[in-house]
Amino acid sequence: MILANTQPKNHLDRPIQFLKGVGPRRADLFARLDVRTLEDLLHHYPRAWQDRRETADLRRPAADGLVVARGRVLGARVIGAGPSLALYKADLATAQGEVAAVWFKHFSRRFDAFARLKKEVREGAQLWVVGRAEGDLVSAREIRVEEHYPLDDPRWPLHVARLTPLYPLTEGLSQRFVRERVSAALELACGEVRDGVPAPLAAKRRLPPAPQALRGLHFPDDAAKLEAARGRLAYEELLLLECAWVLKRRQTRGLAKGYGYEIKRTLLTPFRRGLGFELTAAQKRVIVEIFDDLRRPYPMTRLLQGDVGSGKTVVALSALLLAVENGGQGALMAPTEILADQHRATLDRFLKGLPVRVASLTSRVPKKERAEILRRVETGETDLVVGTHALLEEDVRFKSLRVAVIDEQHRFGVRQRATLRQKGRLLDLLVMTATPIPRTLALSLYGDLDVSTIDQMPPGRTPARTLLTAEEEAFAAVRREAAAGRQAYVVYPIIAESARLDLQAAKAEYERLKSRVFPGLKVALIHGAMPGKAKSKVMDEFAAGRRQVLVATPVIEVGIDVPNATVMVIQNADRFGLASLHQLRGRIGRGAAESFCHLVADPKTPEARRRLDVMAATPDGFRIGEEDLRLRGPGELLGTAQHGELSLSVADLVKDAGLLAWARADAAELLAADPTLQRPENALLRRRLGALYRDRWSSIDLA
Ligand code: ADP
Ligand code: MG
Repeated sequence: MILANTQPKNHLDRPIQFLKGVGPRRADLFARLDVRTLEDLLHHYPRAWQDRRETADLRRPAADGLVVARGRVLGARVIGAGPSLALYKADLATAQGEVAAVWFKHFSRRFDAFARLKKEVREGAQLWVVGRAEGDLVSAREIRVEEHYPLDDPRWPLHVARLTPLYPLTEGLSQRFVRERVSAALELACGEVRDGVPAPLAAKRRLPPAPQALRGLHFPDDAAKLEAARGRLAYEELLLLECAWVLKRRQTRGLAKGYGYEIKRTLLTPFRRGLGFELTAAQKRVIVEIFDDLRRPYPMTRLLQGDVGSGKTVVALSALLLAVENGGQGALMAPTEILADQHRATLDRFLKGLPVRVASLTSRVPKKERAEILRRVETGETDLVVGTHALLEEDVRFKSLRVAVIDEQHRFGVRQRATLRQKGRLLDLLVMTATPIPRTLALSLYGDLDVSTIDQMPPGRTPARTLLTAEEEAFAAVRREAAAGRQAYVVYPIIAESARLDLQAAKAEYERLKSRVFPGLKVALIHGAMPGKAKSKVMDEFAAGRRQVLVATPVIEVGIDVPNATVMVIQNADRFGLASLHQLRGRIGRGAAESFCHLVADPKTPEARRRLDVMAATPDGFRIGEEDLRLRGPGELLGTAQHGELSLSVADLVKDAGLLAWARADAAELLAADPTLQRPENALLRRRLGALYRDRWSSIDLA
């Protein structure tokens, strides 16, 4: 048979359609899962593994109720159960005695829903059943069957009596079907899988070969083998990621801005003098780090981390002023109008009397005014622009934008950062965040970002005391502080899934607080759905002390600065995430007087409880950030989009911190020894890097 020999030796590239049992219709279904070739299928990793080893004691099912039993059918029959539902019941003799197995099916007049069962589950047949324990298993032994496998089907060892893989599915594909196809693909093509990890590295880190790891991931013998396999594949993903970052960093550093900054101090010195306070040592240190970056020949990409209230704005302003001192322009972008307004007010205060021309750009600016602002920005008559997403509009053009600052960067998408960057030629970018993440993680997420951290608060701050209290107690604190001439926030949650109802509730609460709870106080309401102008008006009044209680939705989460506000009541605090709670709390504790944060909540899950306890236990944003990471995982914390950009499917940046450290060190070493990956043992790594990152990398916010 000559024809048989001419089959392509490379099974990996074969379309999945030609795998036995697949065909064109199912191939389309697989395509929905991004599985097109056998190689794709090998990399279609299980989302979980179910422990389907035989249940040792049928009277004691696993915690999730799962029961796995093996037995001989003593008898079986169809039982009608309702107009649309029918039931098939079999008595099984197992080593542990007799059990009843039941199957539920939709009844149909058109065909016999039990045809297959009648054939497979008949007297004398030997079976595996996987199902849930029904009722009181101590006496009544009944299993509601989810899957069953006749012992004369040689494929049963893929499905039962083992750690069984559960795959991401799409409608029309079953676990059983996918599992069997993966097994077939492993048989055909696994031996061809080549190691992305160069042999010397695999040896150094004692990693199992890739084919073995793939088998172990899909069909592990036991938990230890599974973890070894997963670790091996995770390491490979992380190595690719870290290599990509090394290369990206090198590329960025090869770019020449073509202009330099000189520290002239014509603006910086008067700015510092006019602040009215001394910069903290941490602020001075990060300003030096940033200025060092600015004077380098290649563009800066720096992340400035600093807890809420640590004073990032002054640092950002210093960088912006250096650009202006050197005849360039600066831009400061914030995620909300309130915050942009607040920044504008700060700039006006700190730049009073200095020859710096500032403009604001938000979606609220009237058309005619906007045209004039755009004209001045384009001609260079404006030095600094503060704004929201409105800065990203296509018709916003700068004469010479040199420094761009993005506040609360995690509120922006990767693409928005890239857009701002493109407003200037190789400009210097500073992104700021108050949601600190551990350094190792930051480096892996933003690989070629340098990180500066303000790890110190300005003096004279008293961190807020955080209490879990009943509402009455919280309201008493509001009255007490108001009587002492201070102000309070009362915050209500708004979450996306129930935004409309939440807003209604917040408005109703405002009415209640105004008329019944605090009749003697001046109460105002601010929420995200209000027009921008109305919002600013309320904020201005509150900042000026003309309102004592501000009822707010989380619009105030970001950046509001009213030092006289010393109480915050967070209602339904269990519905907020840790990062949000910390941000909210950061609105108080900004002055010398002691502040109080009252969390009013009725936590329904252990996690919610834990979040509240963490808040009560520590004011430290870094500890809270780490805890948040532990509770939620990086995907959610950083936005799935950002995590998605990293092409990680088995690796977990938090759980695999050890592997990550290896991968970082190995990537640096590898690329130092073989800068463009020309050595034969690195060829595959180079190919994979290209395939994974070449396209999407340019869309990331780097130069
Ligand atoms: P964040 O880091 O949260 O953005 P801000 O920049 O808004 O913090 O600063 C919070 C407040 O602290 C502002 O009122 C700011 O003027 C003030 N501030 C900043 N640095 C200092 C300092 N070194 N000493 C005293 N107050 C400071
Ligand atoms: Mg800020």
